Amino acid sequence: MTNTVRVRFAPSPTGPLHIGGVRTALFNYLFAKKHNGTFVLRIEDTDQNRYVKGAENYIVEALNWCGIPFDEGPGKNEKFGPYRQSERKTLYKQYADTLIASGNAYYAFDTAETLDFHRKDHEAKGKTFIYNWHNRLKLTNSLSLSKEETQAKLDAGEDYVIRFKSPQDETLHLKDMIRGDIKIDTNILDDKILFKSDGMPTYHLANIVDDHLMQITHVIRGEEWLPSLALHYLLYKAFGWEAPEFAHLPLILKPTGKGKLSKRDGDKLGFPVFPLEWEDPKTHDISRGYKEDGYFPDAVVNFLAFLGWNPGTEQEIFSLDELINAFDIARVNKAGARFDPDKITWFNHHYMQTQSNDALAEAFKSQHDTLGNIDVNYIALVIGLVKERATFISDFWDLTYYFFKAPKQYDEKAAKKAFKDDTSEIMGQIVALINAIDEFSAENLQTTIKSWITSNEIGFGKVMMPLRLALVGALQGPDVFDIMFMIGKTETVSRIKAMVSKLQ
Ligand code: GLU
Repeated sequence: MTNTVRVRFAPSPTGPLHIGGVRTALFNYLFAKKHNGTFVLRIEDTDQNRYVKGAENYIVEALNWCGIPFDEGPGKNEKFGPYRQSERKTLYKQYADTLIASGNAYYAFDTAETLDFHRKDHEAKGKTFIYNWHNRLKLTNSLSLSKEETQAKLDAGEDYVIRFKSPQDETLHLKDMIRGDIKIDTNILDDKILFKSDGMPTYHLANIVDDHLMQITHVIRGEEWLPSLALHYLLYKAFGWEAPEFAHLPLILKPTGKGKLSKRDGDKLGFPVFPLEWEDPKTHDISRGYKEDGYFPDAVVNFLAFLGWNPGTEQEIFSLDELINAFDIARVNKAGARFDPDKITWFNHHYMQTQSNDALAEAFKSQHDTLGNIDVNYIALVIGLVKERATFISDFWDLTYYFFKAPKQYDEKAAKKAFKDDTSEIMGQIVALINAIDEFSAENLQTTIKSWITSNEIGFGKVMMPLRLALVGALQGPDVFDIMFMIGKTETVSRIKAMVSKLQ
């Protein structure tokens, strides 16, 4: 292909962008960047009945959050604009007319009632009604009517649609970059509607015309569009245009069982299926988003890249740049990709480790009023001690609260294990040891306390367990000496004393 690569993501703004849509956008983005091409966003909003306010904005924000912004689209580098089909409305009719003139399309006047009758009649006989070569001459259209009759209907302002005249007895040889060669018998195709008398094109016409006018070289989209491929090929042929190459991405399957991933699966198993939170403008229902649930965009992107693609090596962690480098559409699978919510959490844990402690501290602090007066550098040090155990920023509080305030109670089970008759006395001695340390460092604390334990031949647990309980309130957390050092001498002593007085 000599043309420079131009791909497009062409969502319909009918609601929040499903995570599968983000995957489609990502694969388009990766393909574009890999080939130094252009990633176009086109908003396919010809179906005004399904238009949802805020959806376009949501799509743009979702792409930006994932770090995969479009190069050309509404409000940006509008070389081939406008990029909203509703703003291109007047352009499609002439293309429908061309197809009529060349005999590739025709006017059809069948009423909704007539078509419904045929549909039901077929159903009753266990058949499916298809409007095409085998019955089109028996229906009411410009092929079955005379020229004059047709014109009279048009002049009278009768409702019509323009249908594509799909060929009879042909075998189409289609190509898909992922699925290879596909053969289609044209006799099974129906004469799809391309245009309606309300002045609006259908998806098929608008999509092909725009892909052509926007010089799209590769159409990468979800598997659900595979059944439209034959019609799209035929449309290109009818217009005499060179067709782009096509790639239909595999379905995203439920975590378990059969079928496509749905919002219900997310609700049931407790994970979002949308990149960002979405409030339904009508019902005000809120749907969770990966962003608000505390996922890092790199984790989401890395995870989505593996939904249907793999690099052919063991490597799983990929930055966006590495993905661009490694991405090869020939390595995308045909088979459906199972959505594993645990895997995205695993990626999040990984990406948590790559964040700077300072950035995490800022984010953590902004989520907790209690941390308002605490020095962010101190919070960053604390985070450095527990980060390994965290997957989300929201995990930090439970992992670190004792760095910011003394525990109010001691875990019951742990206390039973840790508190012995001589605990108060031992802790009293530990307080004395700590007070006597000149330079209060984790290292000094460790050497002093450990050698005291050894020389007094006391069991290690007898000291360390109550000590940890005094500081943390539970038998968890990083190294006890690190904790003491972080909270400081005064606080350490006061926590141990508080425990001793509770024990007495
Ligand atoms: N508007 C279609 C959608 O919502 C675009 C399909 C395509 O990429 O051709 O997915």
